[in-house]
Amino acid sequence: IDFIQALTMEGSKDKDKKPDMTEHERKKMDIEETKKSLPVYPFRDDLIAAIREHQILIIEGETGSGKTTQIPQYLVEAGFTENKMKIGCTQPRRVAAMSVAARVAQEMNVKLGNEVGYSIRFEDCTSERTILKYMTDGTLHREFLSEPDLASYSVMIIDEAHERTLHTDILFGLVKDISRFRPELKLLISSATLDAEKFSQFFDDAPIFRIPGRRFPVDIFYTKAPEADYIDACVVSVLQIHATQPLGDILVFLTGQDEIETCQEVLTDRVKRLGSKLKELLILPVYANLPSDMQAKIFEPTPPNARKVILATNIAETSLTIDNIIYVIDPGFAKQNNFNSRTGMESLMVVPISKASANQRAGRAGRVAPGKCFRLYTAWAYKHELEDNTVPEIQRINLGNAVLMLKALGINDLIHFDFLDPPPHETLVLALEQLYALGALNHHGELTKMGRRMAEFPVDPMMAKMLLASEKYKCSEEVVTIAAMLSVNSAIFYRPKDKIIHADTARKNFNHIHGDHISLLQVYNQWADTDFSTQWCYENFIQYRSMKRARDVREQLVGLMQRVEIDMVSCLPETINIRKTLTSGYFYHIARLSKGGNYKTIKHNQTVMIHPNSSLFEELPRWVLYHELVFTTKEYMRQVIEIESKWLLEVAPHYYKPKELEDSTNKKMPKTAGRATMTE
Ligand code: ADP
Ligand code: MG
Repeated sequence: IDFIQALTMEGSKDKDKKPDMTEHERKKMDIEETKKSLPVYPFRDDLIAAIREHQILIIEGETGSGKTTQIPQYLVEAGFTENKMKIGCTQPRRVAAMSVAARVAQEMNVKLGNEVGYSIRFEDCTSERTILKYMTDGTLHREFLSEPDLASYSVMIIDEAHERTLHTDILFGLVKDISRFRPELKLLISSATLDAEKFSQFFDDAPIFRIPGRRFPVDIFYTKAPEADYIDACVVSVLQIHATQPLGDILVFLTGQDEIETCQEVLTDRVKRLGSKLKELLILPVYANLPSDMQAKIFEPTPPNARKVILATNIAETSLTIDNIIYVIDPGFAKQNNFNSRTGMESLMVVPISKASANQRAGRAGRVAPGKCFRLYTAWAYKHELEDNTVPEIQRINLGNAVLMLKALGINDLIHFDFLDPPPHETLVLALEQLYALGALNHHGELTKMGRRMAEFPVDPMMAKMLLASEKYKCSEEVVTIAAMLSVNSAIFYRPKDKIIHADTARKNFNHIHGDHISLLQVYNQWADTDFSTQWCYENFIQYRSMKRARDVREQLVGLMQRVEIDMVSCLPETINIRKTLTSGYFYHIARLSKGGNYKTIKHNQTVMIHPNSSLFEELPRWVLYHELVFTTKEYMRQVIEIESKWLLEVAPHYYKPKELEDSTNKKMPKTAGRATMTE
């Protein structure tokens, strides 16, 4: 690949830190010294004084300054956890919550889960003794249900506020509200970027505490021409750096686990073929579902005379700081959940990142020494094709879940909720309509008994409805398993490059004629029959870790089913009831076969296709239900089952009319799209 250098991001030179110090030497400093070396350290006393003086403080400081790991410890040392009070700190990402908690427990020399713990969806690693609790923003959002005034907390830190996830945005409104009637509760809003002014305005002009950054200059390089295959370009760039550049670790930004695994395989393979000509290259992945022992690995010091290359999702953009990164490779993409409020369709797609993201990524190269960032796109593309900022989630994703939670908190008037940036009106209306159709709200927009039960589950409203519907169809055992499997879905089947045929054959053995949800159920049940054997997973190309996670999630869900008083019963071997139950939750996600093996969604007549991985890919049933849409070259339905159209009238009579479900395949196709033209 040909790179041209365009500019250098200037950073302030740092006097008390020697850029020529290696990671190894640095790691040899004991923890105390490392703590003292962080940019936030000199401001410790000023910061505590400011927190004592003000109820709400906005903290701005570059990634890696020590905001997340240090400030909570300063608060503990300053006595904020006396009288059994806790300090909470939210993170937008689960991996960050776990990894930071582990680090802080280590720094404080306590066992993780005791004084320092974390709580994320389906996993609570805290105890009676926990005084410092890291959690995802979604978890805190849920905590409001059981403790609406956050009475057990003396300080709440909304961290990584710049990420502007949906949950973080809603938390802003919630914590601002409770700060008014709990004047002793301290609120810290911490951000890595320049949104501080905006946060300050929102929180009634709260003061901003700035931690001056330390940054070394980063040279930015662009490709001369656009790259057709950015994974391959990443591999080539890593090898080029490894062969020609001085030691120093490499950080590569990819969009998800699949890409990371592909890249890891290709890279491992090429390095092997190069033999001992080059220095050792350690390849380490980081993504959301990475098991915790693997997470810890990325922080281990690089051995002397070796180089680490970290393949990460944009989790490493600001949430996690890995020391000693000198080179960044940025293909310029990220995976994003997008919702089209016109069609009501939600879909996961790979999109170009914003300029702000690109600059954050580049900045990761300049933390310990001058660095280099290789952008796998042209300077022209950077300038003309990237948006300035990423659009906050609240303005681009489905709000069903958030609205259900707010309703469950008794917040009825959502139009006037205190949003930092309000969601689009039509998205809000659509969420209300959807919750109404699911039976969670009545026609006054108030929460129903069903809605209250749905809110007990930390899953999206459609899945919650599905879980509850299993009561009626007497298949709770199976549906709970399916829900658990769906929550780890993409990572169940293992498909190594050199054994693709074996892997695909193994996978086909699980295929069920009625579709993927049932296939997943079979995988789980067969595994359970072997008493959860590792060997069985290995033989069947199933990822053991994902299965273990599915089992944990399943256990949690069974607990929640008990809470809403649903007995665990099984309906196997019959699958009709299971599929009816799935339809009760996902009746929005229905498509009908149309010409040429394509499908059309019922309400909006969008063209979609069955994903090639699906067990129904060659079956093409007339009516299908899908779990999610992914957009790659086409809009694909992933996880599909066959249903019967008449079930829709049974499970969602208020949403579907018999007329729109008529099977038109034998009749003349309507000239124009839409149900108005359909003949009876
Ligand atoms: P900020 O929140 O300001 O971005 P952090 O508190 O996350 O900064 O990071 C401070 C330092 O702690 C960084 O040098 C980072 O590498 C280190 N650190 C964070 N998590 C871990 C971990 N799990 N293991 C080792 N070091 C870590
Ligand atoms: Mg942080």
